[in-house]
Amino acid sequence: MAVPLRQALTIGYYLFRQKLKGRKKFPLVLMLEPLFRCNLECVGCGKIQKPNEILKQNLSPEDCLKAANECGAPVVSIAGGEPLMHPQIQEIVEGLIHQGRYVYLCTNALLLDNFLGKLPTSPLLTLSVHLDGMEEDHDRIVAQEGTFKTAVAAIKKAKSMGYRVNSATTFFDEMTVAKAEEFLDFVKPLGVDGVTLASAFQYPDAPDQEHFFGRKRTFEFFNELLEKNKKGRWDINHSPFYMEFLQGKRDYNCTPWGNPNYSVLGWQKPCYLLDEGYAESFAELMESTEWENYGHLNNPKCADCTAHCGYEATAVQDATASLGNMLESSKAMF
Ligand code: SF4
Ligand code: SF4
Repeated sequence: MAVPLRQALTIGYYLFRQKLKGRKKFPLVLMLEPLFRCNLECVGCGKIQKPNEILKQNLSPEDCLKAANECGAPVVSIAGGEPLMHPQIQEIVEGLIHQGRYVYLCTNALLLDNFLGKLPTSPLLTLSVHLDGMEEDHDRIVAQEGTFKTAVAAIKKAKSMGYRVNSATTFFDEMTVAKAEEFLDFVKPLGVDGVTLASAFQYPDAPDQEHFFGRKRTFEFFNELLEKNKKGRWDINHSPFYMEFLQGKRDYNCTPWGNPNYSVLGWQKPCYLLDEGYAESFAELMESTEWENYGHLNNPKCADCTAHCGYEATAVQDATASLGNMLESSKAMF
């Protein structure tokens, strides 16, 4: 089970409280980008293309904690850029944990060794290490040799020191089901607590505009791959209904307010993948975004998107929509 029971119960209780309050739109995971700088230049990255004056900026720990309080999501995913290049990243992580939030610190792991022993080994903190396949594929996608070996060494060390560690993998169109299987079989014995999987999003600003699965290919790929995930072969850190969505077995609409994004530019409309303007506060984001203009049915920019930031919150809400769905979803989890 990739999501610990305590975390699943916290999220379940949060969802229950939102329902009691009658809230229709509420956040589940805050996507926090405290900087856009990175020590890599991955070809599919849509974040590091910002102008220099933006790349130089950092969110302060106060800004990060205020944003988390403003939106109230029980989970925070810290991405970027490379969060470990932020001069006060430890303070940000510790502050969010102090608020009782589950924190996923997303990193390419090039600097992770320097932080092991300094970051808390809390059950609320998961180090989410970027690995886009086996060595040859990963090093090509991140455009730097040696990164796979560094990341794998950091994962092993982090696990030996008692950290919770996930691998976060994005699949581009050169990935085959056989290669993905080989990768997942390689990662599991490293002791990782879970893996997150995604099909790459075609960022308009990314240098690589060619190597993406479309929506149909995404469903076919994940259906074939996840059918092989029998008897706990891999610990996949997604909710059961979202995985069925990725397999094309469930049809969902995007609910981007489930994963709002806050960065040095403000609250991004409508999600961390599209760049359609910014709001100054979470309340303004919720009120001023024309949510009905997004999702694969409503916007050509969303046509091929199956990202967790749009569809996992939908799946999680669906899993708690009725007693039958709750039972079906829990059966798949345990
Ligand atoms: S490691 Fe992440 S933030 Fe850095 S360039 Fe690659 S995709 Fe972009
Ligand atoms: S479909 Fe994807 S890109 Fe479009 S709003 Fe939803 S999450 Fe963002």
